[in-house]
Amino acid sequence: MAPGYSPPVARGVSHVRFLFLGTGTSGGIPLVACDCAVCTSADPRDMRLRTGAAVQWVDPQGQARCVLIDATPDLRMQALRHNLWRCDAILFTHNHVDHIFGLDEVRRFNAVMRAPILIFAERYVLDALHRVYKHVFDREANINDSFVATLIAHEAEPPESHAARPIDLWGLRFTPVRLLHGRLPILGWRIDSGSTTEARRHGEDGKGSRLPSTDASSLDGSMAGCLDALPLAWCTDVSAIPPESWARLSGLRHLALDALRHRKHPTHFSLDQAVAAAERIGAARTWFIHVAHELGHAATDATLPEGVRLGYDGLVLGDPDDAPFRADAARLASGLPHHPAPRPEASVTPWPATAPAPGVRGAFEEQ
Ligand SMILES: [Zn+2]
Ligand SMILES: [Zn+2]
Ligand SMILES: [Zn+2]
Repeated sequence: MAPGYSPPVARGVSHVRFLFLGTGTSGGIPLVACDCAVCTSADPRDMRLRTGAAVQWVDPQGQARCVLIDATPDLRMQALRHNLWRCDAILFTHNHVDHIFGLDEVRRFNAVMRAPILIFAERYVLDALHRVYKHVFDREANINDSFVATLIAHEAEPPESHAARPIDLWGLRFTPVRLLHGRLPILGWRIDSGSTTEARRHGEDGKGSRLPSTDASSLDGSMAGCLDALPLAWCTDVSAIPPESWARLSGLRHLALDALRHRKHPTHFSLDQAVAAAERIGAARTWFIHVAHELGHAATDATLPEGVRLGYDGLVLGDPDDAPFRADAARLASGLPHHPAPRPEASVTPWPATAPAPGVRGAFEEQ
């Protein structure tokens, strides 16, 4: 964690909802140039953008918040589909292309919110982001002072380090959980309400008690709507769960877990492995993500045990009412100019440039 950073810890969050922005493997479904039954399926649940998620809530001060898990190459379309108008922070799981190549898109949120975005990732992921997004992180080296994201990077300590601690953001608690993605150690993210009163209401006592399963009516597609969103863990791109991580995954209401396909894979759980892990973790609900085109939604779902289903793009857990977030969007819209402010001529720096012209442009202004 960067020195001087002390995120607000507060009580009394409300309207918590968790959005499955994408549930597909790295190539997405349909795959480019594939005419298989799943890639040509008419079932909308067989169309899967790259795996990523968002959590929306209203913080104890009444402010709407939105935190992303990863920034997929499909982030632009995912934000449009879900009418996202803000992004307060991004938590990264690891540095693979299908999880980071949408980071450029968040500059629009900077412009709309007129605020920076916090990012949290392990050191090696921050280093990779710095390499890939040099134009964002070394902005002063850009030949023209172009419109790029404004990010404040924070290092997430490795979960096994004694310096590691949960990240509290506006009333919610985000805890990194070590997962193995082949030989690469990556992060899952567990999300709890930071509110002790809320936790008590849900029967969470911090001892990881298993939540009760619900009735048989939950076996169909309405399985999503009957429970609060938290506590929830997002465990994508996992092929093994280290011994110390199982306890961190106890007492979950929802678990999102990697399940790539039937055949074994060196860096992802197969369907059988994912079912076994889901049963051991024992969340009230498990949703499989990072799904490949070998698994058709309806046919696969029919084979899964009670409380375990394939996730799908557009799945929303928790509060179905998005009114607070629409109101926030309207408030943000009222502060926006209808057209970008005119750029001063001086901001166009001729090639070759020695340095970007300083101070010619307001922060977060689009071009
Ligand atoms: Zn992936
Ligand atoms: Zn296919
Ligand atoms: Zn990966």
